Amino acid sequence: MAYRITLFEGDGVGPEITREIKRIFNELNIDIIYDEYLIGERAYAKYNTLIPEDAIESIKKNKVALKAPVTTPIGKGFRSVNVSLRNIFDLYVNFRPAKSLSGTLSKYDNIDIITFRENTEDLYIGDEEEIDDGYIAKKKITRKNSERIIRYAFEYAVKHNRCKLTCVHKANILKKTDGLFLSIFNEIKNEYPSIIADDKIIDNMCMQLVMNPNEFDLIVAPNLYGDIITDLIAGLIGGLGMAPSANIGDDIAIFEAVHGSAPDIQGKNIVNPTAFFLSGALMLDYLGESEKANKLRFAIEKTLKEGKYLTKDLGGTSSTIEYTDRIISFLN
Ligand code: NAD
Repeated sequence: MAYRITLFEGDGVGPEITREIKRIFNELNIDIIYDEYLIGERAYAKYNTLIPEDAIESIKKNKVALKAPVTTPIGKGFRSVNVSLRNIFDLYVNFRPAKSLSGTLSKYDNIDIITFRENTEDLYIGDEEEIDDGYIAKKKITRKNSERIIRYAFEYAVKHNRCKLTCVHKANILKKTDGLFLSIFNEIKNEYPSIIADDKIIDNMCMQLVMNPNEFDLIVAPNLYGDIITDLIAGLIGGLGMAPSANIGDDIAIFEAVHGSAPDIQGKNIVNPTAFFLSGALMLDYLGESEKANKLRFAIEKTLKEGKYLTKDLGGTSSTIEYTDRIISFLN
């Protein structure tokens, strides 16, 4: 059966990693039809809009999209393409797994942390207003959106035999907004007695993650803290080039690397495509192709462990294409 997905090759290094993931899917013998659209900076240059209507219609129709990073133009009042897509399709779960793989420049071993970041509200509603001497930004936390992300995280823990879920907040200062998120976490945890449930204030959480990352298993957080700690956690497993993600709603999902369009290394054939490949593996899991997803993960691990063909950020000298060639050689 052929899968039909919406594909965005994105900006910056996006086209380079998109080209490579297509080679991987081809080698894995997965029949995928790509409906490709431009979004982001290049779409703006061509169509004067960051997200053309036909791209939105394609996601609605296909229900699954793979998205390379896009550039959000600075200082022209643009809303981030990512934030817009998450809101248009109500993709309320930002699923960000981070797992140590040998061969990376990571300072730690055995990290296996998954963050469930609330994806639709918090400061990301982008509601800022002018006051006498500056601006105020509004932070929105609702019962409905907090409940569904927290419940999703607990359900995941049960289904996947994970033992602990940590809620991140700043409820000591933001007593109403973060206070609500924490109190909902404390209500829901009673329904899941088999899961160890605790909470940490965001500043302490950052310190603990750096000092004792192996203490953590699953994390649930409001949007902004989730964004920040997942970059921190990416740093613990070897950098942004290693961190995949999925934006999941009730019946639509968009898969993408955590990193941005990295314009500083665009066109140099040195971008590390691992995060995007691992996002592709998450997409294959979602499509019910876990066997092929695991094959891809295994080939990535083997390439990293062997250590002969690594990209520059991983301490090697190989190009993006050479690194991918090596992964492909381990696929069969
Ligand atoms: P970035 O993640 O693009 O880059 C940060 C640094 O990490 C850069 O030095 C870059 O070269 C390096 N880096 C990132 N990914 C790498 C990889 N796979 N391999 C090797 N090195 C890598 O963040 P930025 O520079 O702050 O943002 C650039 C643009 O990307 C901005 O326009 C931003 O809005 C956008 N952005 C998009 C997404 C997305 O589409 N999902 C996410 C974050 C940022």
